[in-house]
Amino acid sequence: MSTPTGAPDLTRLTATAMADGLAAGEFTSEQLTRAHLERIEVLNPALNVFLQVDAEGALATARAVDDARASGADLPRLAGVPVAVKDIACTEGIPTTAGSRMLQGWVPPYDATVVTRLRQARMPILGKTNMDEFAMGSSTEHSAYGPTRNPWDLDRIPGGSGGGSSAAVAAFLAPLAIGSDTGGSIRQPAAVTGTVGAKPTYGGVSRYGVIALASSLDQIGPCARTVADAALLHEVIGGHDPMDSTSIDAPVPPVAEAARTRDLTGLRVGIVRELTGEGYQPGVQARFDEAVELLTSLGAQVQEVSCPHFRYAMAAYYLILPSEASSNLARYDAMRYGRRTPPDGVDSPSAEQVMASSRDAGFGDEVKRRIILGTYALSAGYYDAYYGQAQKVRTLIARDFEAAFAEVDVLVSPSAPTTAFRIGEKLDDPVAMYLNDIATIPANLAGVPGLSLPTGVADEDGLPVGIQVLAPATEDQRMYAVGAALEAALAEQWGGSGTVLDRAPDVTELAAARGAAEEA
Ligand code: GLN
Repeated sequence: MSTPTGAPDLTRLTATAMADGLAAGEFTSEQLTRAHLERIEVLNPALNVFLQVDAEGALATARAVDDARASGADLPRLAGVPVAVKDIACTEGIPTTAGSRMLQGWVPPYDATVVTRLRQARMPILGKTNMDEFAMGSSTEHSAYGPTRNPWDLDRIPGGSGGGSSAAVAAFLAPLAIGSDTGGSIRQPAAVTGTVGAKPTYGGVSRYGVIALASSLDQIGPCARTVADAALLHEVIGGHDPMDSTSIDAPVPPVAEAARTRDLTGLRVGIVRELTGEGYQPGVQARFDEAVELLTSLGAQVQEVSCPHFRYAMAAYYLILPSEASSNLARYDAMRYGRRTPPDGVDSPSAEQVMASSRDAGFGDEVKRRIILGTYALSAGYYDAYYGQAQKVRTLIARDFEAAFAEVDVLVSPSAPTTAFRIGEKLDDPVAMYLNDIATIPANLAGVPGLSLPTGVADEDGLPVGIQVLAPATEDQRMYAVGAALEAALAEQWGGSGTVLDRAPDVTELAAARGAAEEA
């Protein structure tokens, strides 16, 4: 792949190759960062991936890295490799909206720890990526700033809530991105865009400075095009942070080393019976079955395991998440910060009236739906029947995982039941939308880590499909090992760059055709 001028297109490289090329002096971080910024300028109008682009900030970091390298400084592994950040993490001086009108124009006075770590790793931050409002959704259609489009087909969704981050990586607008996963928002977008996404163990990556959705489920993690790249980013952002009371006080699991695994001899793999078969699109199931066969050929011992309570995971999640969200979102009261919209036609309104009108104007429909649901589930007289019951189900799901991991080392399932659906298709049917996370939600409820990687495209629509690998808490390296070995075996079959993105249509052409159609 080369640019019209004949120079190699730097944006096509993996993050690992970018880091190697920078270290070898083959190109500079400024060149690399500019290549991405130029591509963003061309494609962002059609894709709506970035809500904010910080060209100046990214280039300043890039130049500083180049200067340091020229003077022989010892630099971190990913120094000079650009990264995109989901608009849920606070960035000092760069507007942060969480996809909501409520925070439109808000400029955080500090960096989230995950952003601090990117800066310490000296990675140029390209900008902030689009997302469903407050990370509620599976399609990025609930963003107050318009939907992000899937680079494979601009009429389809890129998954959600982190559709922006995964689409950025899939469209080669960034080699790496940060996502957040409360019920699947890293793994499901990865699956439907043909990219890799990991949700680390709960507490594995600090959430300090990340806008809260449901605090007992939220987890920050990496988005990338290969398992090895995801692991490198995981190591940058992972590790203990005294500013986050849920942060695990232990070293980051050795995920980058695990991502060099090619042989799975003796590894016990369990297929989750409840997460396959009925309800899964034929092409999704077919690619999953083939991937399982490949795992066997790599030496893994595959068996089926049952996690009987997973069938209640969705129901429990949609009580626990709204309950926690309704409480977390109470802070948007128009008094301390955020949007303030006084009620129309009321002289000297009361504080309550201003709160009500501001929240009405600032929140979108999905956010309101969940606040109402959560407030109801937590209200006196219903608390035990709803929230309390859901917490009990959560314990049963955690026990299912414990029992399964007593028999096998990792669990696998399709990452999502379908490929990318059309924009608008599920917008009026919240339950149909929620069902897209059926496979990813159990991991959040139990706090265990999960990884999604591409296994090919579905025959019926040519769209990418992902497999999910789940490991016990704090054993994140296991899922990277399985993912890396499977990815290498698939790459050998596929040839080319070894990624499924070789099969995606040229997004520049799709964007140009769309632009032309809109003008006509
Ligand atoms: N799609 C799920 C939801 O809407 C997951 C969201 C997330 O992981 N942030 O709740």
